[in-house]
Amino acid sequence: MTSAAETHRDVFGSAPQGVWSAPGRVNLIGEHTDYNGGLALPIALPQRTTAACSPRPDDLLRVHSAHEGETVEVPLGEVGPGSPEGWPAYVAGVLWALREAGGAVRGLDVTVTSEVPLGAGLSSSAALECAVGAAASDLFDLGLLADAASRGRLADACVRAENEVAGAATGGMDQSAALLCQEGAALLLDCRDGATEQVPFDLEAAGMVLLVTDTRAAHSLSDGQYEQRRRACERAAHELGVQTLREVAPGGLEEALARLSGDELRRRTRHVVTEIARVEAAVGALRAGDLEEVGRLFTASHASLRDDYEVSCAELDVSVEAVEAAGALGARMTGGGFGGSSIALLPAGSAEAAVDAVGAAFAARGWAEPACFRVTAGGAAGRDA
Ligand code: ADP
Ligand code: MG
Repeated sequence: MTSAAETHRDVFGSAPQGVWSAPGRVNLIGEHTDYNGGLALPIALPQRTTAACSPRPDDLLRVHSAHEGETVEVPLGEVGPGSPEGWPAYVAGVLWALREAGGAVRGLDVTVTSEVPLGAGLSSSAALECAVGAAASDLFDLGLLADAASRGRLADACVRAENEVAGAATGGMDQSAALLCQEGAALLLDCRDGATEQVPFDLEAAGMVLLVTDTRAAHSLSDGQYEQRRRACERAAHELGVQTLREVAPGGLEEALARLSGDELRRRTRHVVTEIARVEAAVGALRAGDLEEVGRLFTASHASLRDDYEVSCAELDVSVEAVEAAGALGARMTGGGFGGSSIALLPAGSAEAAVDAVGAAFAARGWAEPACFRVTAGGAAGRDA
């Protein structure tokens, strides 16, 4: 792949002032919990999105995406909720949100290249936002990469870009992962107060691997399903008289379910409350080196997302079943669902057989070949050059 800096020179006629990048992520466990004030446990991927950038003295954003094969110009004054449309919203939205937060942000020339597959549930959108956000922070002296607290503020701006400008009602997990994860660690993220903790995550010593399967099944967060799940959780919280479902303790779950007005709200609530408990259990198991238990929790999480939260799909279910039959300790869908990717915890020696098993299961159903790759926990967004 041609580097972002080289492409920048070709597109804009001069070398970029610097190059920044941010990682995609997989969430180990804690799905659809972020907007419920709950817990999540993402790792940053080794795959990153790169933004080569130069500041401009005016208020024009010019942005080229190698993936889209297109260069778009957006006057910053025209950026706001719903504008611009399409992929440039993720870039323009970040500059807009930083300005809204009081930053002295001007125009930029930006060239984007990405190793994170788009729309695969691996958070290419947050990787793009956070690479651009990191660049803007350095180029306009905003100091938002300095420490965890400022990185948290940059994450907030990137969330606003995605929610308000791009119009995708996602929670804050992806941006926090891209900005706060550390190499060799999973990020325990408490979405109630933004508190984070690094949890050592190194499978190699235990002879294990984490395998990602991009099912290549179409996934779109803007088709309303994600939004519907959020609204259901808000309704359930309202009926229970709590701010968020985080406030429902696992011990009080049965009593809470009995008070809800219908079966749909009961199943959504049961997923959220049990999933938050599974994150706590997984952190304990990781710290204790009990990967068998982590695997069991993955599998329980998948069942809950499939049956109670109803965000899985046939491709995700088949990928999970195939790797489990091939020796995985556990597997689950990761990300928002309705397509995208699954993850599996496997003995290193079983990985090849598992990849073959998933491929065969997909081929037998006439589905496109999935992409399987091993990942380790990578580092956060920052300046590369
Ligand atoms: P995910 O974040 O799981 O990959 P999303 O639907 O949240 O899926 O985000 C994908 C969208 O983000 C793309 O459709 C596109 O609009 C934008 N995007 C991500 N990476 C790039 C890129 N390298 N170039 C242009 N747009 C991108
Ligand atoms: Mg996304």
